[in-house]
Amino acid sequence: MWVVDGHNDLVSRTWRGDEVRHVHLDAAAEAGFAGGFFALFIPSPKPPNPSSAHYALPLPEPIPTDEAARVAEELYDIFCDLPVELATSPADFGPGRVAAILHLEGAEPLAPDLSDLERWHERGLRSIGLVWSRANAFAEGVAFRFPSSPDTGPGLSAAGRELVRACNELGILVDLSHLNEAGFWDVAGLSDAPLVATHSNAHALCPSSRNLTDEQLDAIGASGGVVGVNFAVSFLRADGAAEAATPLSEIVRHARYIADRIGIDHVAFGSDFDGALMPDELGGIAGFPKLLDALGADGFDEDAVAKIAHGNWLRVLGETWT
Ligand code: ZN
Repeated sequence: MWVVDGHNDLVSRTWRGDEVRHVHLDAAAEAGFAGGFFALFIPSPKPPNPSSAHYALPLPEPIPTDEAARVAEELYDIFCDLPVELATSPADFGPGRVAAILHLEGAEPLAPDLSDLERWHERGLRSIGLVWSRANAFAEGVAFRFPSSPDTGPGLSAAGRELVRACNELGILVDLSHLNEAGFWDVAGLSDAPLVATHSNAHALCPSSRNLTDEQLDAIGASGGVVGVNFAVSFLRADGAAEAATPLSEIVRHARYIADRIGIDHVAFGSDFDGALMPDELGGIAGFPKLLDALGADGFDEDAVAKIAHGNWLRVLGETWT
């Protein structure tokens, strides 16, 4: 079985000069890792860092467009140097090779008048998260809080609405992860593509502001979209704790909940590898076979596991990248 994954931060991790912890590409073949979304993420100078299980962190400061654009060029160069194929079609994915979707996590590097969007599209950009968890010209990201609803701020700006329309026109996926709830519903009302949260979980199981309420899950399901289950322990556990001794069953629990609520066609993986604290039991991409076995042991049959592993992502990409 081979896996397409909704989110990793290998590029930012490499940019910072930190050691790769999870996405060891030389182990991809053995792990069945066929790639997925590779984020270009511009770090905030002072990243929010919860000091206890209950937290309500302020949004980091916005990053000016020119500064973000400068860093994005450096991130893009790192992306281009990865030993992977650029993915611009679902047919680019398959067993035995790694394909990478160029994904912008936070649209800060884009000019608010979108004058450089087509250039990025020509480079292969096929997925944009309007925001990371801070404000920019397009929208406001969800603040990191636990426990909290995702309703932490205002919705899309006029530029943000234009960006969604432009993405629909160009066939760029719009990622809802990190948006606050008002922004989520703005996109849901505007977009004519399936709704996608690349790396978010079920709020009913883990009441983090980063997770999706039942109503949000229902909207994603009704649109034919997909939720990539995030493996970050803080977004899995009912207590929200940053505790690496978290069993794989926590990932299965979210996959089961989402599948039961909105259907097996709408759940996938969105690991957050190299961007967050993972369950020890999983490690990095080498843990995918173990995770697929755990899904099977929970009663997902082979067809269902294949949908979660790659089928649902490929369907949604095919419907979005028109
Ligand atoms: Zn993220």
